[in-house]
Amino acid sequence: MTRYVFDPPPVPAVKIHGEDALFPVRRVFCVGRNYEAHAKEMGSEVDREEPWYFNKSAHMIQNAADGDNASQPYPPGTENYHHEMEMVVAISKGGFRIPREKALEHVYGYACGLDMTRRDLQAVAKEKRRPWDLGKDVEGAAVIGELVPATQCGHPVTGRITLSVNGEVRQDQDLADLIWSVPEIISHLSRFYHLEQGDLIYSGTPSGVGPVVAGDRLQGHIDGLPDLDLSIGPAE
Ligand code: MN
Repeated sequence: MTRYVFDPPPVPAVKIHGEDALFPVRRVFCVGRNYEAHAKEMGSEVDREEPWYFNKSAHMIQNAADGDNASQPYPPGTENYHHEMEMVVAISKGGFRIPREKALEHVYGYACGLDMTRRDLQAVAKEKRRPWDLGKDVEGAAVIGELVPATQCGHPVTGRITLSVNGEVRQDQDLADLIWSVPEIISHLSRFYHLEQGDLIYSGTPSGVGPVVAGDRLQGHIDGLPDLDLSIGPAE
């Protein structure tokens, strides 16, 4: 039996709608600029040649299922912590160089997610041509609601995706506006990685991203999926 010098950390895991068992998380991939309106609001060009990615540690997962009163402290090192509402795709079957037409066979299900971002640090990174990690790989910043198996919700390609802060709608678009579809992302990403069960893909945010402050309540919605609910507490 393998022995470790200390107990291994707990496996990051996500709640599944209607099931006691959890979905263990392996890696967290995030798609950049996958809605044209968001690329424009960031002053960026849309790259229509191919999608691109950044990663967050699986240990940055924050469950925020509706009804669980999830909260997180306002993170250190930023004065401009932003919400990015996104649909999350969960992978249940590994694959490498997956053809687009087979991609959905690798999907376990879908969830509401937030790619929370230290926007000020991301801006510095962009300007100084540094990696984005301090802006994106933030503790608790891979927020996720309950996962719904595709056997229950199908594979959403249209439907409203919204994010409200204290009841005021800040982001409101349609999944149909995704530049790169879920099958296209899975197929493309699997040219660079051996996708494995447990991988999550945050599929990109619509326009309307903006700052949160301590005391805010974030409610995310995607048609056909359980809502996400997260409160921001005071800084530690
Ligand atoms: Mn994002």
